[in-house]
Amino acid sequence: MSERRRSAELVARARQVMPGGVNSPVRSFAAVGGEPLFFQRGAGSRIYDVDGNEYVDCVCSWGPLILGHAHPRVVERVQRVVKDGTTFGACIEAEVELAELVTQAVPGIDTLRLVNSGTEAVMSAIRLARAYTGRQDVIKFEGCYHGHSDGLLARAGSGVATLGLPDSPGVPEGYTAHTLLAPYNDLDAVRRIAAERADSIAAIIVEPVAGNMGVVPPEEGFLESLRHVATQIGALLIFDEVITGFRLGWGGAQERYGVTPDLTTLGKIIGGGFPVGAYGGKRDIMDMVAPSGPVYQAGTLSGNPVAVAAGLEALRVLSEPGTYEYLERAGESLELALAQAASQAGTRTSIGRVGSMLTLFFAPQRPRDYASAQAADTEAYGRFFRAMLREGVYLAPSQFEAIFVSTAHTEEDVQLIAQAAAAALARGR
Ligand code: PMP
Repeated sequence: MSERRRSAELVARARQVMPGGVNSPVRSFAAVGGEPLFFQRGAGSRIYDVDGNEYVDCVCSWGPLILGHAHPRVVERVQRVVKDGTTFGACIEAEVELAELVTQAVPGIDTLRLVNSGTEAVMSAIRLARAYTGRQDVIKFEGCYHGHSDGLLARAGSGVATLGLPDSPGVPEGYTAHTLLAPYNDLDAVRRIAAERADSIAAIIVEPVAGNMGVVPPEEGFLESLRHVATQIGALLIFDEVITGFRLGWGGAQERYGVTPDLTTLGKIIGGGFPVGAYGGKRDIMDMVAPSGPVYQAGTLSGNPVAVAAGLEALRVLSEPGTYEYLERAGESLELALAQAASQAGTRTSIGRVGSMLTLFFAPQRPRDYASAQAADTEAYGRFFRAMLREGVYLAPSQFEAIFVSTAHTEEDVQLIAQAAAAALARGR
């Protein structure tokens, strides 16, 4: 592995002109030690930094790249459409095709609106839920991250958890006053809040499989009970499937667990590596969105031709037979290999996994909520992260994120990651 001199130079330049030298805090290496890398190329399961080092990529741009980097079909489609203009700010056929495909795939979506990010999707879904119910409060789970909109920056996961930020300054108290917090997987807490504030709750929003405090699966009956409570009190159930949509199956987590929400938010995978988000749900609720209804939400680049083409092509590749079986097997294989490496090294770790998303927690008990995830040894994770980097494996620079497996990861890649982990853990003892 060559030195990372060029990366270091770019870090120094970036710090002069960008806060912390990054365009998103999760890219910082603050929680694991060291300086962020700059990348210049990706191909399949591999990424290459500006100093020419190759890594097996376990981040996959935080989830969108379920086909790996630069999938030939996605690249070819993008190259073809980009020649015909990059944006019209007007209607195109491909956005209808993408909407048709998503509504057919996801059980809870009759109609949808395309936006440009997961944050925007969730923010808009919450506005719609409030308008539809005529209520203001939202139940949110600690450690779930739903983007950086003001009202949802309350005990959020992802970068907020990683950097140990309480709530962000700049968010007026009144905004989060309507966000009621419950621990993940804690039905009693949900029932208590629901009993106290039944008439004021517009929505219960949840990551059906939490990915932003590390991967924490829902316990048996959790999602079903949320469905039940929401219906009982006349609130909407929102599944934030920005990560899980088209990852945990063609119909997302809602299909996998057999629980249908009223509204669903999507992002990441449906953009094929370009900025796309979406919110959708039952027709009568979605009909409240302008111009059908009074709930305003708009976007200059929404349904952008290049992004939509990339998303559409990515979903077509994903829809081919055997894809999800492959992702499931690869995820399982990686879990087993990592567990074996950890046990041989005598490390006290646990693994949270659903399908092709997983986290190796430096905690002996598998976390079930934010408090137990926060008990993980982040120093140990930092040492592991740095050792893995030296072994040529790029992990998320935080304990509270997921490893994402793509269709480009081969069994050989899985074994490479496991061997690197065995070496890294043996050194970290
Ligand atoms: N919801 C979830 C579940 C997410 O994981 C994320 C981002 N990781 C978001 C919303 C926000 O998406 P974006 O970063 O595209 O704004």
